[in-house]
Amino acid sequence: MTSRAKFIHFGLSVVILAIVCLFNTTRVRGQEAAVAPPSADAKATSDAEFIAAADEVLGKMSEITGLKLRTPLKKSLRSREEIRAYVIKQMNEEKTLAERYAGARSAEALGLIPKGFDLDAFMVNVLTEQVEGLYDPKTREFYIADWSPLSEQRMVMAHELTHALEDQHFQIEAWLKAARPNEDAELARDAVLEGSAMVAMIDYLMLGTGRSLKDLPEFDPSMLIGDLGSTATLQEAPPFIKDALIFPYLGGLTFSAAILKDRGWSGLPGLFEKPPVSTQQILHPAFYRSDRIPQSVTLPPLEKLLGSGWTKLDENVLGEFGWKEVLKQFLDGTRAKSLAASWDGDKYVLYEEKQSKRLMLVTRLHLDSEEHATRFSGQYSEVLEKKYSDRSNLFRRPNFFSFDGTDGGVFLYCFGVECVTMEGTTRKVFDGFTKAIEWPMAPQPTQRLEPAAPAKTAMIFGFTENNAAAGDVVLSPNFLQSQGFLFRAAHSEKRQIVRLLRSLPKAQQVFETFGD
Ligand SMILES: [Zn+2]
Repeated sequence: MTSRAKFIHFGLSVVILAIVCLFNTTRVRGQEAAVAPPSADAKATSDAEFIAAADEVLGKMSEITGLKLRTPLKKSLRSREEIRAYVIKQMNEEKTLAERYAGARSAEALGLIPKGFDLDAFMVNVLTEQVEGLYDPKTREFYIADWSPLSEQRMVMAHELTHALEDQHFQIEAWLKAARPNEDAELARDAVLEGSAMVAMIDYLMLGTGRSLKDLPEFDPSMLIGDLGSTATLQEAPPFIKDALIFPYLGGLTFSAAILKDRGWSGLPGLFEKPPVSTQQILHPAFYRSDRIPQSVTLPPLEKLLGSGWTKLDENVLGEFGWKEVLKQFLDGTRAKSLAASWDGDKYVLYEEKQSKRLMLVTRLHLDSEEHATRFSGQYSEVLEKKYSDRSNLFRRPNFFSFDGTDGGVFLYCFGVECVTMEGTTRKVFDGFTKAIEWPMAPQPTQRLEPAAPAKTAMIFGFTENNAAAGDVVLSPNFLQSQGFLFRAAHSEKRQIVRLLRSLPKAQQVFETFGD
């Protein structure tokens, strides 16, 4: 399993070298060619022009993807106000206020957004700022923003019309939602939708050159897209929000390009028939090809143990993408990526104390080897120390770490190929939890052992009975705080194209270089 990480890093470094060379050449050519001023095209489009362009692009996308148009499409130019109203309506329809609250609190507990961050308001702004076009599978209609020049609109159309054609053949909304309640699997499917539309868009861009994405040598196609995080609102976004918005597009592009390279567009129906099961398969297409399936991880119900003052807010799967984001908040990107790559399944659950709104976060992570579980133990204890600057009673043993933070005890314990964490609770609850998952009791500081013993025994018996009765864990449809929230917002807003247009001239130059 170690070889997997090594192989990937090796592959990437080669790719980066190749791309650097490629872009150096391109820049020289670009200076000579002189970039055409955008003004000729940068005027408002008339309805007639818009309809004609849409019909033309639709025909081309059907040729590229091999997907025939089965029913006529509705299409319209929309103002910023109309798109904003649509995004808000979609957000409200997609999730209740309570679900959005739960999502934001999970992101906060995981350290992905600052405490008290207004995720709802932020997402409305970022999505309405970013949206250039969208396809609404409910009404089978696609919209283009009326503020974009026609040349950019054509690129957006190429992307949106791919969604429309895929919808007519594969019913994308139902297909996407079939992954629920597993948010990691849903994000993986979203990456197929966005990624395949990105590949189709690049193929559209390449029409007339005799080349397509599959002619390019092995490299990371995300290098073509430039800085998607360059708009004003996104610049202020917590890094996690940027990553979560961009992942379906770029992660999806890399994945879809890798898979479609094998068979061309005739491989597309296969992606819908056998969707990737996790973001890990998106991040590592070889795992998709080899059918590597993550472990199914369960958490016991903790309600009895916590008492009636607590309520469960959220429960879901973070996936390799989610863990990479969590780790990135506290470790550097390279370590986070490498550590997350040993992910082999997880589950997290968030409880809230009703009165005080205090949170308790529990995670259970399955790693791909004992060696990696030990590595996770070491590095995650570093994460927890960075996350809680105010801590006391530190206690450390091999594969176990605990301390008291400002909002309760924090625990990290690894056993075999698994690790569990609990934040915002007591040693008593933690012991009840490890007992319920049938792990040996974690090492204890000796001075605490005797006085706590009788109460703990009683509690464990009570809990065990409860656990037997309530064997299955009820999954809430709530998303991983932020991850779920974000991709649903993006999706419900019907696949906005993040401002990739800005970077397309760069992509064009790269392809032109290949054409020589
Ligand atoms: Zn899209």
